[in-house]
Amino acid sequence: MENEVNWQGRPYYSLDAWCKGTLHRKCYKIALNAHMTCPNRDGSKGVGGCLFCSGGGSGEFAVPTAGIPVEEQLRTGVSLLAKKVSLPQDAPCIIAYFQAYTNTYAPVEYLEKIFSQTLSSPRVCGISIATRPDCLPRDVLELLGALKDRFPHKFIWIELGLQTIHENTARLIRRGYELPCFEEAFWALFRLSVPVIVHVILGLPGESRKHMLETIAYLNRINPFGVKLQLLHVLKGTDLAKYYAEGRFAVLEKDAYLELVADCLEHLSPRIVIHRLTGDGPKNLLIAPLWSGNKRDVLNRLHRYLKERGTVQGCRYQNDKVSH
Ligand code: SF4
Repeated sequence: MENEVNWQGRPYYSLDAWCKGTLHRKCYKIALNAHMTCPNRDGSKGVGGCLFCSGGGSGEFAVPTAGIPVEEQLRTGVSLLAKKVSLPQDAPCIIAYFQAYTNTYAPVEYLEKIFSQTLSSPRVCGISIATRPDCLPRDVLELLGALKDRFPHKFIWIELGLQTIHENTARLIRRGYELPCFEEAFWALFRLSVPVIVHVILGLPGESRKHMLETIAYLNRINPFGVKLQLLHVLKGTDLAKYYAEGRFAVLEKDAYLELVADCLEHLSPRIVIHRLTGDGPKNLLIAPLWSGNKRDVLNRLHRYLKERGTVQGCRYQNDKVSH
């Protein structure tokens, strides 16, 4: 098992530890809006989007991005960041995160332009592209392969929103694809050596601790590069908010959530990098759980709880990974 020294003193393998251990520097993420939409919103898969998705398509941006070219967003992001931290002049340390909506849902020529422009920036060490598994057609996969060859010293990651392995829940949240679709995309990316970060939501309606640990066990079997564990947020204007108002499900209480995250970490393979351990919904849209609005406090409490409990990522992991 990896040890706490490699993990920079944390009881889990954080993205920060990965950056320091692999790139030998601290890296910073800048979220970008490449002005795409989503097939689950524009009518090709659905019109309402996923049950929990606000109209913003998972984008949370510190500065306005509408109509602003990606290159300019990146420049602005770097200069804002440089006011807060000392960025190295001689080493790329920015992870450009294509976050809003579905970032491979556009003509491949456009994707080629924005991804190669971003990878060409001397500030950028790599890009992370959030998308859906049903939006990775052959030409997009070929593009990813070509970009990897063209930028061998930079990384290209794909983030896939799986949320759960359970089809009943997936239908309820209107995810719009079934597990085999995810698997096809995952293994296609694996064959291209494109690392995948899987998004999982904790606290989905109808899911018990057992359901969530089954999703974690599944991740152990496929062994992605990384995972984002996200607490379910009820946001204004979503259909989930209607369900919540009708009392059809309850959100997690803080203590139950801390316990659940610790359970997930204990069962998760120590090789999988934790790209996010919690998440804060946009404060102006957050309906519940309100305690999650203070992300700093939640993270502090979580770290304290993990320490008290003596939890280390993977301490209850069973090596049930399938062979690749
Ligand atoms: S796939 Fe993402 S952007 Fe599209 S509806 Fe679902 S959460 Fe929103």
